[in-house]
Amino acid sequence: MTLAALRTAFLLAVPVLAGCESMPALDADSTTVGDAALAQLSSGAATSSLGSLPVDDGRYTTGAPRKTWVYSCQSFPSGSGSQSLPWVSGQTWNSKEKVKVRGTVGWTRSLTIVRRGTQRTISGNGLPGHQTGTFPISPSDPAYEYDQNPNAIAPQSVSYSIPANPAVAAAPSCLNMGPIGIMLTGAQLFNAFDAQGRDAAVHELLDSCWGHPQQQGAYHYHTFSACMGDSVTGHSKLLGYALDGFGIYGPRGQDGTVLWSNDLDECHGHAHVIAWNGKRVTMYHYHFTYDFPYSLGCYRGSP
Ligand SMILES: [Zn+2]
Ligand SMILES: [Zn+2]
Repeated sequence: MTLAALRTAFLLAVPVLAGCESMPALDADSTTVGDAALAQLSSGAATSSLGSLPVDDGRYTTGAPRKTWVYSCQSFPSGSGSQSLPWVSGQTWNSKEKVKVRGTVGWTRSLTIVRRGTQRTISGNGLPGHQTGTFPISPSDPAYEYDQNPNAIAPQSVSYSIPANPAVAAAPSCLNMGPIGIMLTGAQLFNAFDAQGRDAAVHELLDSCWGHPQQQGAYHYHTFSACMGDSVTGHSKLLGYALDGFGIYGPRGQDGTVLWSNDLDECHGHAHVIAWNGKRVTMYHYHFTYDFPYSLGCYRGSP
């Protein structure tokens, strides 16, 4: 690498990291992260909507991508047994009443994002820069009754090289299980399903930041989390990158209005002017929504 390229890489890396360190939700209210997260989750979206979201177990297609569905690379056995959950009523669930895994465990995030030529390289330890619940879930935690997640959160070796200027592909690509994106919190994003193809936000017991570890200890989200440090007005902030290189933003669109899945295309995104690599460009990007599938429905670019 030339000295000029090194300098460019360094200059590009610094603002991203500085931005992360100043995310208010990561450091403010550190002892009451749960309350702060819930308050932020509720702000901007109709409270009644968050109390009555659709349960979308098995809402996937392996054929053509479909708006408000997940285009999955795999199918799941149908008819997985479902337990009775107090926050579920018929085909809706209440995100405000869902039991959260308790705890305020702190972690040291390592995350480096460098843009070099046509590539953006992202490396880190997969640990979030915010507090998490206590995992494995303790038998004394009320969440244990519904989910006995035995996994502990552990550092990962996260390393991605994604396009810095991704292009819309000729056809969308399906989503695998496991990581579909990396968030600026340092932790990874998975798709909307648990291993049985059920709506993970409903069935998996998550902490106040809406995350939990899988078998290898990788802490991950299936949904938006207020702990990601979104802005509170206007178009949501860039909160992370999908593995096809496109940005993932919070739930608010161009005029600051909260978006729902039906407002977006089948991959859960849209195109308009955004700030990208320091320029204002018209570009495709994904949004989180409060309703299923919460983040990507498919890849619009090439993962
Ligand atoms: Zn999960
Ligand atoms: Zn947008």
